[in-house]
Amino acid sequence: MLNNLYDTRALQARDAAHHWHPFTDSAGLAAEGTRVIVGGDGVWIEDSEGNRILDGMAGLWCVQVGHSRVEIADAVHAQMSRLAYYNTFFKTSHPPVIELAEKVASLAPAHMNRVFFTGSGSESNDTVIRLVRRYWDLQGKPKKKTIIARHNGYHGSTIGGASLGGMGPMHAEGDLPIPGILHIAQPYWFAEGGDLSPAEFGLKAARALEAAIDAFGEDRIAAFIAEPIQGAGGVIIPPDTYWPEIARICRERDILLVADEVICGFGRLGTWFGSQHFGIEPDLMPIAKGLSSGYLPIGGVIIADRVAQVMDTGGEFHHGYTYSGHPAACAAALANLAIIERENLVERVRTDVGPYLQKKWLALGDHPLVGEARMVGLMGALELVPQKTPRAQRFATPQGDVGTLARDISIRNGLIMRGVRDSLILSPPLVITHEEIDELIVRAARTLDETYAELKTRGLITG
Ligand SMILES: *Cc1c(COP(=O)(O)O)cnc(C)c1O
Repeated sequence: MLNNLYDTRALQARDAAHHWHPFTDSAGLAAEGTRVIVGGDGVWIEDSEGNRILDGMAGLWCVQVGHSRVEIADAVHAQMSRLAYYNTFFKTSHPPVIELAEKVASLAPAHMNRVFFTGSGSESNDTVIRLVRRYWDLQGKPKKKTIIARHNGYHGSTIGGASLGGMGPMHAEGDLPIPGILHIAQPYWFAEGGDLSPAEFGLKAARALEAAIDAFGEDRIAAFIAEPIQGAGGVIIPPDTYWPEIARICRERDILLVADEVICGFGRLGTWFGSQHFGIEPDLMPIAKGLSSGYLPIGGVIIADRVAQVMDTGGEFHHGYTYSGHPAACAAALANLAIIERENLVERVRTDVGPYLQKKWLALGDHPLVGEARMVGLMGALELVPQKTPRAQRFATPQGDVGTLARDISIRNGLIMRGVRDSLILSPPLVITHEEIDELIVRAARTLDETYAELKTRGLITG
């Protein structure tokens, strides 16, 4: 793309005047000026100044197949030319939604064969709340309604999604959570594991669920929801002991297990769904993001047979969205899934690019600024610390300042990473090549060096 095609200053001014950004200090951004992204190709994006940046976050965890895949655009064009919109409410359906539901069911674990479509991950999780409550009513247990979720989990930004999430600032600003949702500890060994081994801590974190059920009463707890690996919370990979114990507790206590697959689904961990990586069998799986690689907004909830059978006894389920099963979005999702299958992207993450990136990423853990490097599939984090021991030291600045500094330096170095607290996180498109991974690592290492030097200058690292 040619430089100087865009008047960046003018775009920034217009953006500041009228565009209210999500999760943004709008006044602060207006003063600084937004970065204007004008194109994308594979793992690369380009801004209005002509900078070519490696998109280490796959957009926002979603662009599995890389940017600008014309075959998805063609599929959407063809569908829109035939039937751009029709609803799926009043006993109607259409070929793309039928085909997509069948496709997703075929990719999902064998015990899950039905899909409810939504427009986003947040809507998927609101659907989960509606579904779980209805399920227990139909089971004749109307008191069994409270959902247990986790601190620092992320399940979206609607009232329901933000309530299930465990993000303090979202709760504080929104008078959340709504009633009927409890939060327990997260399996964040690096920061909260203390002297326990990861295995011991994984069990301890899982047993917080059992304790909450005991304290509250099994007859009142409806479900447990969690991301297989927390994404927005900072790519928090639970110890191996965690998920099997959670699954045992949910089974024994007769509560539904909901795996929020919005990030981990569709190949991110080298399996079609993150719960398969951890060997668990959820009752519900909210999905979105990688379902369409973000080409058009679409999400859904995949429903286990035993839940669907109960829901089928209840007559009408009074829930749905105008855009549930939107034809063009379904066409985008189908074209996206066809690419993932044809290019073997899931297998490739598991056996090829995943291990290739992991080896180099984990080696960044030797850098003096890094307290822990972790990664599963193509999803990783670097914990930034002022000194390596004892573990999880904090900088003498407000939490998040160092993460933001490192993030800004990374983008200057031509690599999009995201700062979460004082860590950097990564989640590149699944199509990334070995050469691009080599380049990514060079830029990440340079970012660590420059951040380290800057922190020394500021007196925040004295070692
Ligand atoms: C992004 C995300 C959501 C919310 O999805 P939206 O499409 O932004 O509404 C829900 N759950 C998880 C795990 C997510 O990462």
